[in-house]
Amino acid sequence: MDQPATHLSPSPLSLSINEDAQAIAEQRQAMLAAIVDTSDDAILSKTLDGVITSWNRSAEKMFGYTANEALGQHITMIIPADRLDEELYIIGKVKKGDKVDHFHTIRQCKNGKLVPISLTVSPMIDNNGNIIGASKIARDISEQQAAHEENARLFAEVKSLNEKKDEFIGLASHELKTPLTSINGYLQIISGMITDESAMLFLQKTRQQVKKLNALVSDLLDVSKIEAGKLQITKEDFDINQVLTDAIELISHGNKSHTIDLTMPAGKLIVTGDAHRIEQVIINLLTNAIRYSPGTNKIHVGLTSDADEVLICIKDYGMGIPQDKQQDIFTRFYRVNDENSTISGLGIGLFLSKEIIIQHGGRIWADSEPGKGSTFFISLPKLSRKTG
Ligand code: ADP
Repeated sequence: MDQPATHLSPSPLSLSINEDAQAIAEQRQAMLAAIVDTSDDAILSKTLDGVITSWNRSAEKMFGYTANEALGQHITMIIPADRLDEELYIIGKVKKGDKVDHFHTIRQCKNGKLVPISLTVSPMIDNNGNIIGASKIARDISEQQAAHEENARLFAEVKSLNEKKDEFIGLASHELKTPLTSINGYLQIISGMITDESAMLFLQKTRQQVKKLNALVSDLLDVSKIEAGKLQITKEDFDINQVLTDAIELISHGNKSHTIDLTMPAGKLIVTGDAHRIEQVIINLLTNAIRYSPGTNKIHVGLTSDADEVLICIKDYGMGIPQDKQQDIFTRFYRVNDENSTISGLGIGLFLSKEIIIQHGGRIWADSEPGKGSTFFISLPKLSRKTG
């Protein structure tokens, strides 16, 4: 009968295979040890009782204890007193075979210094499948933490400066309003006193400029009201056809460079909202259409409606707006090509317009092609859904 294979003495061939396997295992072991030793992360292991069983070079650098000092010590030597319960939590997870991933915490170095770390803890399992301890990888996140704190500080600083700026704009525009109103009043009195034609002409020009200044200050005041959530919208039923006709008449009166044609259904078209604010938006869009289309002479305005909403469009044939800027133009103080623009402005008209339209539960947007012109659209619900 043949001898069972297990009783055969090892052949020279199997001996050499075993030696090769052992050499490979040793090589792999050495490689792993080198990786652990050269890692920038602190890598250490501990028993389930918390006794440290391995401690790489980065752990020495990070926590200040040499491997000799750390091995055999309890892991709590690097855990700050107020974080000791973290160890119970971590060990609890490890005992269940769970991993703790990228846990941000703080550990204490030999010299007492606290170091913020990102910690990953995995259970260590022996050949029989028993959990015998935990391996820990700790990454020093002092730099990220410092950058994060610096960002938060800068954010708070910018926020506070922004609030101060808003406060200043609010105060300044409020203060400017009073003398402007007085100037207007005095100019009116003077206009009744002078008869000289050229003096009258200059007076008219002065009143026009004061009017412009007044509009600018009012816009600034509105911006600060929006920031404070205090923009007043008074809603009532009004005829949008009438508001549109009045606005076009007003703008046409002061601008002879462009003719504005209007297409709209006959009769009244009643919507609920703030007629004065809607007129402000239309005037702003018409003024822009004229200002940003030098060298052309036509503006088209259209009004259509269905059962629920009205749609107003204001079309010019001017310089247009690049596609990637068409969203930005509705943000506060944003101007396309501000540095190169010969057309002055503060970049608040469209911001105000958008806020007003949103408060009516409507939408405002632009469709434009550079060099060909822009069309601005306003859609307004006939029955305003949002309360102002
Ligand atoms: P302002 O005109 O005072 O700068 P607005 O908020 O009214 O401020 O407009 C923001 C920017 O949008 C303008 O600076 C301009 O670059 C662009 N813009 C607005 N309307 C038009 C238009 N009809 N055609 C081309 N560009 C426009």
